[in-house]
Amino acid sequence: MLLATALVWIACARAAPAPVAPRVQFQGRDWHELGAWAEAHRFTLQWNRSTKTLQLTNRTTRLGFAVDSQQATVDGVKVWLSVPVTVQAGKAYLSALDIETVLQPLLQPVRSPPGHKVRTIMLDPGHGGKDPGNQEGQELEKRYTLLLAQQLRVKLQAAGFQVLLTRNRDVFVGLPERAALANNSKADLFLSLHFNSLGRSDGAVHGLEVFCLTPNHAASTHAPRTATSSQRLPGHGTGAQSVLLAYQVQKAAVRRLGLVDRGVKRARFAVLRDVQMPAVLIEAGFMSSPAELKQITDAAFRARLADAIVEAVKSYKRQVER
Ligand SMILES: [Zn+2]
Repeated sequence: MLLATALVWIACARAAPAPVAPRVQFQGRDWHELGAWAEAHRFTLQWNRSTKTLQLTNRTTRLGFAVDSQQATVDGVKVWLSVPVTVQAGKAYLSALDIETVLQPLLQPVRSPPGHKVRTIMLDPGHGGKDPGNQEGQELEKRYTLLLAQQLRVKLQAAGFQVLLTRNRDVFVGLPERAALANNSKADLFLSLHFNSLGRSDGAVHGLEVFCLTPNHAASTHAPRTATSSQRLPGHGTGAQSVLLAYQVQKAAVRRLGLVDRGVKRARFAVLRDVQMPAVLIEAGFMSSPAELKQITDAAFRARLADAIVEAVKSYKRQVER
């Protein structure tokens, strides 16, 4: 009898619903109070009021936020929010939009339908032909995006993936055509490869950033707030998996290569907008930084970058497949 009572008690304890973090509305949008959200999701919240930073930790994950900032961290890796964390009447709030489009996709990955495996990967070497991309002296972005794609293809194939390229030589391919190639081939993932530049005067700017599609009703990371759009785009269908893939690439590349972490960012780039599978655009360092140009033009460095991307794709695959 005692045992039966104990079992009933355990069953009840397990079935007890987690406290719900209520939504509140102000400034024309929905928010969750971070303390209530932390409790509902079994995180411990620490708010350092002098540095205006908030840390949420549980057994496996550490989240970092800063008041009035769009910069967040997930296990130490930078992820840009769509809306800055805000304080009202002594409480910190995170937008419901960022809960839905950043935290949930990273903390509770959306699983693919049963039997749907990550098999075919479309690599998209940026630029080509009449479009050189960024240019630094004699060095052209289009050359190194293709070289990186070719190195990455070999490593992905060795890991068991089928790999397609939107271009395999120095030829111009339009942006709509790149998206159409991915959609028509029914690729499972789309990785667009680029190298950044800010011009000669900005040699001190460096680091790696990975873009995924801006959520519906949000502004892109560096666009003015007025640039929000409510247009539903093909890429929104896989938005949750795209941010997970972007995060895995950012994490693996920053950790393996020691590059400056510029974070997972959001943009409505044509290739991210128009493809029907999870998609990211990788800006793997700045050609305008002399130190990073040296790395970008070095085959051994690109091989390590390719290894990091393979690791990220494998981590992503483990998280989404049933
Ligand atoms: Zn580019």
